[in-house]
Amino acid sequence: MLDEKLEPIFADVLRRNPGEEEFHQAVREVLDSLGAVIAKHPHYAEDALIERICEPERQIIFRVPWVDDRGHVQINRGFRVQFNSALGPFKGGLRFHPTVYLGTVKFLGFEQVFKNALTGMPIGGGKGGSDFDPKGRSTGEVMRFCQSFMTELSRHLGEYTDVPAGDIGVGQREIGYMFGQYKRMSNRYESGVLTGKGLAWGGSRVRTEATGYGAVYFVERMLGTRGQSFDGKKVIVSGAGNVAIYTIEKVAELGGKVVACSDSNGYVLDEAGIDLDLLKEIKEKRRGRVEDYAKQRRAGATYVPGGCIWDVPADIAMPSATQNELTGRDARTLVKNKVLAVGEGANMPCTPEAVRLFLEAGVLFGPGKATNAGGVATSALEMQQNASRDSWTFEATEERLAGIMNGIHDRCAEVADEYGSPGNYVLGANIAGFIRVAEAMRAFGVV
Ligand code: GLU
Repeated sequence: MLDEKLEPIFADVLRRNPGEEEFHQAVREVLDSLGAVIAKHPHYAEDALIERICEPERQIIFRVPWVDDRGHVQINRGFRVQFNSALGPFKGGLRFHPTVYLGTVKFLGFEQVFKNALTGMPIGGGKGGSDFDPKGRSTGEVMRFCQSFMTELSRHLGEYTDVPAGDIGVGQREIGYMFGQYKRMSNRYESGVLTGKGLAWGGSRVRTEATGYGAVYFVERMLGTRGQSFDGKKVIVSGAGNVAIYTIEKVAELGGKVVACSDSNGYVLDEAGIDLDLLKEIKEKRRGRVEDYAKQRRAGATYVPGGCIWDVPADIAMPSATQNELTGRDARTLVKNKVLAVGEGANMPCTPEAVRLFLEAGVLFGPGKATNAGGVATSALEMQQNASRDSWTFEATEERLAGIMNGIHDRCAEVADEYGSPGNYVLGANIAGFIRVAEAMRAFGVV
């Protein structure tokens, strides 16, 4: 419920950002948690602090012209929303997907501010991307697009200013093309300007695995509060991209069994447990679809075209595809099937109604800004290694990641307790993230 002091702030957000539904949704969720904070500490409502947090520091929209393989000129739109730099340089990924518009980038940037604060690392929040559709594009086309995108974006970046990384549609290949272009234009080997780099050129070990691994650590710790673990559990993971793949890997390592994953066309059900080598081969090497997985799986797997993965009964669900992929209807099905825990690997995958239903049913619910913070936290570790011109071992880096995820979990749980809602990680994450950003902003005065 929205506190009456916060109502005019939300009304203003709606008025000033028309049509940006996902952004409204993300702001609303945080404001719903802040009523309790300003009741206890009224100074956080002073000096338009909350209004300032809802307004990005800078929003950049630019033209991205490039030439396709047939020699035709294509035009896309590029975005970078530099949301909040109170805690460090703007930090957050780039998303290349045909549905990307300003509202997508703003919701992601807003979430990123609180997520990054929760990690405890010195990083502000931002996000960017383009409506470029990488699907069906050749390597040459992707390269030319990335170069053109970076030609404009480069003037807004810097290791102390803004440090992008990947997100949907942007992986190590795209980061490579963008880093190459940035390096050429600036005549500087500024490793710390992008994260998610390859190991040979300034990347960090564990960055590829970090979001998925981190999400599993977070859920394992939530389960621990009820004397449970992943061991012997049946798990469903939506998506089949970077987050889903490394979620599946870590769940298997902890003794759980992932029986289904999906893409935008349908889902695959594999009761023997997803064969990760095959999935990696299809997704990471061939850039194929989960339908190909079912066709090639010798032990037998069923592909359900157009099906809803949340209909598959499971103990634990990890939505790891995209925003609003899990609706109220899906939450009802999962609750009916006695789901124990839901951990958001993607950003805002559960609709507000779904989140409410999980909380009401007493399901352990890990919100994305806490659960999937391992990716950006490891990006901050990459920045640390770049700054010190060092490179850590896999074990040392993974240990840092595990420590950060446990820390985020415990901080969210502690704040939820403090505000009288034990076990409500949504409230805990929003309040804990907000307080860290708010403290820095108060110290800086009106800027
Ligand atoms: N796109 C990721 C996220 O949603 C990672 C961002 C980063 O590493 O900067 O947090």
